[in-house]
Amino acid sequence: NKQILLVNRPKGKPQTSDFKFEEIDKPTARDGEVLLKTLYVSVDPYLRGRMRDEKSYIEPFELDAPVKSSIVAIVEESKHDQYKEGDHLVGMLDWKMYQTSDASELRPADPDQAPLSAYLGILGMTGLTAYFGMTDIGEPQEGETLLVSGAAGAVGSVASQIGKIYGMKVIGIAGSDEKINMIQEQFDVDAGINYKSTDDMTAAIKDSTPDGIDVYYDNVGGEILDAAMNKINRHGRVINCGAIALYNETGQPTGPRLEVTLVKKSVKMQGFIVSNYQDRFQEGIKQLAQWLQEGKLKHEETIVDGFDEIPQAFIDLFDGKNKGKMVVKVGD
Ligand code: NDP
Repeated sequence: NKQILLVNRPKGKPQTSDFKFEEIDKPTARDGEVLLKTLYVSVDPYLRGRMRDEKSYIEPFELDAPVKSSIVAIVEESKHDQYKEGDHLVGMLDWKMYQTSDASELRPADPDQAPLSAYLGILGMTGLTAYFGMTDIGEPQEGETLLVSGAAGAVGSVASQIGKIYGMKVIGIAGSDEKINMIQEQFDVDAGINYKSTDDMTAAIKDSTPDGIDVYYDNVGGEILDAAMNKINRHGRVINCGAIALYNETGQPTGPRLEVTLVKKSVKMQGFIVSNYQDRFQEGIKQLAQWLQEGKLKHEETIVDGFDEIPQAFIDLFDGKNKGKMVVKVGD
């Protein structure tokens, strides 16, 4: 058995030396517990926030303790009345190959309904984030223009497709031509901007949105948000889902002031955390599963192989190495 500890609070971009692998004994289940074998591990940008020693909506990770993220695991041994050997469970677990749990915070993942990795992506946290952000905060209307940043990633690719389902014109921003091709061909996005090869994002967004922007689904914050706000329409909605462009910053970056734009154009700008919608997760999963089944939603993921690759896969999120949801496969 092995576990991965956080041993340094990263300064700037995380490094593999911020993590440590440790050999540990394989535990056995006690009464009321299951012994779980890790199969798929989700790596997510928000984990960077938990590596800071700062109070947030979720507790920071402790140093010299295992990192946690969403994990799909199989029950190897059960002393739990609800679950039996061979059941699959998903939820917040430690970066360990084997661990025990009372399963109180876990839920079943059915491999007959969807591939197991989907419970970490489109039918998991990132799919739900796109769903609630778009439908609840975005108030999407047919014929409107939706701009999505991080459009080739886990949340952004689903947000873009939900925009299309609602009959919007969708423009996606991503970090390579390959990703732009993917979002256009696979997800039917109307136009794309490669922000890494564009010197003037304000001009690029202006050219791609002749009718302005009604809804901006923002996954990245920073200068791309500043540029998008120049084209926001009256009564526009800005969904502040994430700000990965700022996660490795050490200071408190400032940018153009948005308040005058918000007032003049009656713009709604709202941040949210997917767990705000906890009591509606079943509704979200049902709708996402139905769209998947109807072929209206497509699911993209980047699967990296091997427990030892977990830290690097997490770091690679900040270099845009993933298309769709980044997942590490540990076992079958
Ligand atoms: P992604 O699958 O989108 O992976 C991260 C992507 O971000 C990379 O592939 C990269 O793509 C892009 N990126 C990395 N660095 C930068 C940068 N400096 N500027 C612009 N883009 C960058 O991750 P998720 O879909 O899981 O998360 C997307 C966002 O949503 C994150 O900000 C995350 O924190 C947030 N989030 C918020 C939740 C909530 O409850 N509010 C829940 C889940 C996620 P590229 O090649 O295009 O640069």
